[in-house]
Amino acid sequence: MKIGILGGGLSGLALAANLKRGNFEILEAEGECGGLCRSMREEGYTFDYGGAHIIFSRDKQALSYMLSLLGDNLEARRRNTKVFYKGRLVKYPFENGLSGLPVAENLECLSGYALALAAGKGNPKNLEEWLRARFGKGIAEKYLIPYNEKIWNLPAEKLGTSWAGGRIPQPPFLDVLKASLGLGSEGYKHQLNFYYPKELGIQSLTLALENKVRSKITRNFRVRKIRKEGKKWLVSDGKREKEFDQIASTIPIHYLAAAMEGVPKGVRASISNLKFNSVATVMLGINSPKLNGISWMYFPGNEPFNRTAFPGNFSSQAAPEGKSSAAAEITYREGDKVSRMSDERLKEETIAALHDDKIINKSFIGYSAVRRSKYAYVLQDLGYDGNAAAARNYMTESGIHLCGRFSEFRYLNMDACISSALKKADELNRFGVRT
Ligand SMILES: Cc1cc2nc3c(=O)[nH]c(=O)nc-3n(C[C@H](O)[C@H](O)[C@H](O)COP(=O)(O)OP(=O)(O)OC[C@H]3O[C@@H](n4cnc5c(N)ncnc54)[C@H](O)[C@@H]3O)c2cc1C
Repeated sequence: MKIGILGGGLSGLALAANLKRGNFEILEAEGECGGLCRSMREEGYTFDYGGAHIIFSRDKQALSYMLSLLGDNLEARRRNTKVFYKGRLVKYPFENGLSGLPVAENLECLSGYALALAAGKGNPKNLEEWLRARFGKGIAEKYLIPYNEKIWNLPAEKLGTSWAGGRIPQPPFLDVLKASLGLGSEGYKHQLNFYYPKELGIQSLTLALENKVRSKITRNFRVRKIRKEGKKWLVSDGKREKEFDQIASTIPIHYLAAAMEGVPKGVRASISNLKFNSVATVMLGINSPKLNGISWMYFPGNEPFNRTAFPGNFSSQAAPEGKSSAAAEITYREGDKVSRMSDERLKEETIAALHDDKIINKSFIGYSAVRRSKYAYVLQDLGYDGNAAAARNYMTESGIHLCGRFSEFRYLNMDACISSALKKADELNRFGVRT
């Protein structure tokens, strides 16, 4: 049985590396594998150009798998993350940093949280109602609503809620009370301690996987046509055709559907209604030995970026000696203002905002670069659950195995991609035994 794996990002590589028999081939569109988990090294700086990545998980199996891939190439860090709120650095998560607010706003957030808890969760129909019901007016209006509207590029009333519980945990009241009184409390605890590769950035993970399956990768093979002939799948890039018994797809579901023959109109409509955000990463090298001790910062305000990370603080080797680094992330969608803006302009606006916020003095910037990633975030709008289910059901019924962030079209982090790949490999390994 020969398995075709479409896409050589983290999911495709992890799936391949866990197949027991060697009869498989990875077809990757680009000249390099890694997808979003790629890093660039220039002038002594290392940046993850699909956005800053860190390694963390509450899934022990996935976490230990990722750490085992890195061996000694690993640094451990404790999160020191802030929300930039009206010129103040408020500890993240915002609800665990209330004492960093002016006293009246602190009280507003605390009382709003207590009232929300007393009122119960209700039956929120969209993210805005969900955030208000769980966190109260103060925390929702000051941070959670503006931040989510910025990263998702959509009003919170148009966003769905099925993803939110796992991503925006509601802390116990005592933690919020302690935070308000300045007694210290931590939230989103499974991310409090994180790991990062000492060298080569997050791409070290995908490179370690690539090393296990190197001879089975065909690069520069953009899947454009998929058809079934008898029991065989035929996959083509327009020039070459490959034959497989099973197909596992890790490429965006839009590309998969476009390559397939005979997808019903209704399913095509559901798939084209599945939306996603792109990300531009503005990477900056800074001529200052210790810019700050911050891991990353969230910006709910008017800055063009929603988040800025400081990779020089993730690993001692991410920036040259005596220098530091920053990477600002700007989400956008095809057709909007940012998608039409030149990289140069994006860079200028980012640097100006960081300078005005007194986070980086622009005269210290000695290196800059911009990279864009088209598929960055799965957008969970109000139609998402139904559209995604229709898309996945059709592909699964057609006999295609889906695995990965944009193939399953779920908001999966690296750990969830690993877990999905391990499960899929297990399924295919058993499949192979039966046939
Ligand atoms: C800004 C940002 C920050 C993140 N930070 C973190 C973090 O800190 N921690 C964490 O755990 N996760 C993080 N993630 C999530 C993480 O990047 C993803 O979970 C993971 O990289 C997804 O891997 P994948 O293989 O499923 O998809 P992708 O990385 O998208 O890989 C898909 C692959 O398919 C290829 N492909 C596409 N079309 C075709 C085609 N037609 N034919 C052949 N090949 C094709 C692509 O070139 C690519 O190599 C972050 C994501 C973003 C956007």
